[in-house]
Amino acid sequence: MTGKLVTTDVLVIGGGLAGERCAIEAAAAGHEAVILSLVPPRRSHSCAAQGGMQASLANCAKAAGDNATVHFLDTVRGSDWGADQEVANIFAEEAPVAVRELAHFGVPWSRVRGGKNHYFIKGEEVDIEEALENDGLIGQRDFGGTAKWRACYAAAGTGHAALYAVDSEVVRLGITVRDRAEAVALIHDGSRCVGAVVRDLRDGSHFAVMAKATVIATGGYGRIYGQYTSNATINEGTGTSIALDTGIVPLGNMEAVQFHPTTLSPSGILVTEGCRGDGGYLLDKNMERFMVEAEPEKQELASRDVVSRHMQQRMRDGLGVESPFGPHLWLDIRHLGEEHLRTKLLEVWDICRDFVGRNPAKELIPVRPTQHYSMGGVRVNKDGQAYGLSGLFAVGEASCWDMHGFNRLGGNSLSETLVSGRVVGRRVAEYASGHELRTDTGLAFDALAAAEQRAAAWLARSGSGPSVYEIRDAMGETMMHKVGIFRTGDELDEAVAEIGQLLDDCDHAVLRCKDPGVNPELAFALRLKGMLRLAMTVAKGAQARTESRGAHYRSDFPLRNDRDWLSRTLVRWSADDSEPSFSYEPTGIIDLPPGHRGYGSDERIEMTNSLENHNEGVQEEQVRHGRLPSAEEMGSRLNRGAWKAVTG
Ligand SMILES: Cc1cc2nc3c(=O)[nH]c(=O)nc-3n(C[C@H](O)[C@H](O)[C@H](O)COP(=O)(O)OP(=O)(O)OC[C@H]3O[C@@H](n4cnc5c(N)ncnc54)[C@H](O)[C@@H]3O)c2cc1C
Repeated sequence: MTGKLVTTDVLVIGGGLAGERCAIEAAAAGHEAVILSLVPPRRSHSCAAQGGMQASLANCAKAAGDNATVHFLDTVRGSDWGADQEVANIFAEEAPVAVRELAHFGVPWSRVRGGKNHYFIKGEEVDIEEALENDGLIGQRDFGGTAKWRACYAAAGTGHAALYAVDSEVVRLGITVRDRAEAVALIHDGSRCVGAVVRDLRDGSHFAVMAKATVIATGGYGRIYGQYTSNATINEGTGTSIALDTGIVPLGNMEAVQFHPTTLSPSGILVTEGCRGDGGYLLDKNMERFMVEAEPEKQELASRDVVSRHMQQRMRDGLGVESPFGPHLWLDIRHLGEEHLRTKLLEVWDICRDFVGRNPAKELIPVRPTQHYSMGGVRVNKDGQAYGLSGLFAVGEASCWDMHGFNRLGGNSLSETLVSGRVVGRRVAEYASGHELRTDTGLAFDALAAAEQRAAAWLARSGSGPSVYEIRDAMGETMMHKVGIFRTGDELDEAVAEIGQLLDDCDHAVLRCKDPGVNPELAFALRLKGMLRLAMTVAKGAQARTESRGAHYRSDFPLRNDRDWLSRTLVRWSADDSEPSFSYEPTGIIDLPPGHRGYGSDERIEMTNSLENHNEGVQEEQVRHGRLPSAEEMGSRLNRGAWKAVTG
């Protein structure tokens, strides 16, 4: 063994918005924090976020009357009643603070212009008078599934602006960042997590970091869908899979996978929902605006799961535009005009010109739905503390906190990263203050030796086995075509069998490059099994959930079933076991009773249990499933009944 050991108070695995905001909170409380990242933090996937960040500031005319309760309502409806309502409420209440804090950190938010403004709403050009006293306030645009204009934005480069500002704070506070460093295993004794084993991607060496508290902030795992994702190539889910490997920490709602309606065809690069928020619309091959008939109320701005399904169905019905890369539909933003595109949607302007050679002020944009967001992740309580392992926390897209349930609303993720980074960061700091650093180095050295052995075993393989990239591509095809927007029992059975076969193939795959140091093929090989295991939890979770909720749509069980499925899927799968094991906990305390979302189908199987009965059992059931106690009592942050004032 050649590895070495370092110690710190707080280890944050991931240098995106969630990880950095969490580290800032811990460092501000006086703790030493170390951030690990696969890439320099400013290249984390958060940088790619485009259209906006939701917070109920009520700064413009179409946002008038907005508040945290309306945001809470939209979020729970958006989640198709899959969210933890207390967490959704904490989130909605704290999002305005997060947006204003970013302004303080230096984010150049687009601003309200007082006086007459031209907007496009539901395809119509309208003039709206913005109050002069609002001139210069943080601007807000419309987004899908919301009752008010709530998305704060910096043109279409919101994530870029936010991440650079937050990273500057990290630099200012002198937080240590180790980039090109990958956490490959958690160090734990079965009840407490004490750090992680890290692989240095610069030279292939390993080291262990022992910490009082460890935070997983590794983002989504969209790359299990191969090329069919808007996610960056680094979104391969190692953080989530090392939590799964423990066999103790469950992942929540893995079958809840979001498909974004408008990614560029064929590359999958995102074209923000802000385009439709600002008045863009979708057309089929006959230039018909099909969303008007499909969703008369919200039209193109129904939630993403609903719009993606209508688009996919349109293409299945032969109304897509044929191309050498398969069918697509059109996004039309020509009517917004060049000035609007070059200011409020600047990044879209650039992306269209650079990646499909089109001028969006004059030409239509070819789009189709693609995997975009992982609602599932490391299951945590409202303090961000993982089930089952004390000292382990998770934030951001890697976590299942769980404010998104089965469908995340656009703009709610950037807010989540900053809100949860702050809220959970505070709890992490408290945990670090209340616990000693464990110094039993035997655990760390054992985990380190196992990681080194795993890398050596890959290099030692010989023969003519399949390439890791062939397996990756096959996984992507299976996931998109059999665990995609529409799912059926038969296709899910096939997907489970195919992923099982790929797991076997992975055991026989052989590397083409045997360099132990800088070797992207080896680095990927070390992640591949974890990706396949995540893919299996998605496919099996979808196979077991015989209902449709949010982004999880079973054509053979098309109704949301609140009688039998008002529950969150939990899956555990130790690295030594051949099969994952599933269990189900109640989604959380319900304050807003299940009902119609306001878009999509109103048909569903009603809940038969009373709310009182449901709520009474929640805490006990969740604790039985591994939930650790939170600093404040369960339910104490629910603003009970506040929604009644909004819904009448
Ligand atoms: C194209 C695109 C546009 C989007 N636009 C919006 C938007 O407008 N509004 C909105 O609300 N949401 C948007 N989203 C979603 C949102 O950007 C993400 O959900 C969010 O930024 C995730 O932040 P994060 O900090 O959780 O993870 P990330 O930003 O993905 O950061 C993950 C970090 O973990 C590191 N990492 C990963 N694995 C390891 C490991 N094993 N060891 C060490 N480090 C590791 C990475 O290097 C990285 O630093 C968009 C998503 C996409 C794909």
